[in-house]
Amino acid sequence: MAATVRLGVPAIIVHGGAGVWRQEDLERAKGPLLEAVREGFRQAARGDAVDMVVEAVAVLEDSEVFDAGLGSVLDISGNLTMDAAVMRGWDLAVGAVAAVSYPKNPVRLARAVLERTPHSLIVGPWADDLARRLGLERHPGPSRRTLERWRSIKESKGGESELLRSWITMAAQLGFDTVGAVAVDREGRLAAAVSTGGVMMKLPGRVGDSPIAGAGLYANERVAVAGTGVGEFIMRLGLSLRIAIMYERLGDLGLSVANGVELLTSRFGGGTGGFIALSRDGMGAVDYNTVAMPWKAAGAQVQP
Ligand code: ASP
Repeated sequence: MAATVRLGVPAIIVHGGAGVWRQEDLERAKGPLLEAVREGFRQAARGDAVDMVVEAVAVLEDSEVFDAGLGSVLDISGNLTMDAAVMRGWDLAVGAVAAVSYPKNPVRLARAVLERTPHSLIVGPWADDLARRLGLERHPGPSRRTLERWRSIKESKGGESELLRSWITMAAQLGFDTVGAVAVDREGRLAAAVSTGGVMMKLPGRVGDSPIAGAGLYANERVAVAGTGVGEFIMRLGLSLRIAIMYERLGDLGLSVANGVELLTSRFGGGTGGFIALSRDGMGAVDYNTVAMPWKAAGAQVQP
């Protein structure tokens, strides 16, 4: 059953990824999640739901604790490519980028795609070029910790074909530390944002669910949803949109999120993902089928 929380309006929920979190890592995640929720909530005083989710996700990208922004994991060749998306619920506008390596904060580039281009998704070197032209801050490259982790996995797992054969099992063991946020602003408008380095040891060019509207995130006039987990599974089920549609039919957010996670589990097994969601009236819901999924929420009725 999903955890539900009455947050009031405005409100925000952030998460740091569904996976096999060790206790010490959960402790490390607490500070940045709190900081992100505070930043998102601060934005609510002067901005809209897009400001709230983008600024909250940018805090998580900068923390180096999660698989996003500065903490992004590497592909099988040791390269860094990131995906991010923002969806604005009141007009269903989406901005997303995939396989980018230039920006420190891919979520800001996704926002630029939404607000400054007629498109919804821009990929690879073209998106990096846009980031450069917009003068966005440049990513300094993978941290020493990320490089060391990549090397030790590569050494322990043998050749590339062996790595790819057991990729999903290995990915589930390593965990999914993608970050996401959902928010409702003072006017009751909703937005969702997601940012990720994808899954460790992915093939170059692999893109998961995170930048795909309807899969990794969704927002409309009634609800905002953000997901994390095995992108290959989440996108096949179109889970974020599916949760939004279930909510429209059932009118029960906790049940809709729980049904979405249940569907993921029944089709693809446990340890595969989790979701956060927020309704226009400030009700939040969280559920996952992994060991843990750290999250934090704040709202008019729950101060950060
Ligand atoms: N969903 C992300 C992906 O498949 C991974 C994650 O949630 O950490 O790229």
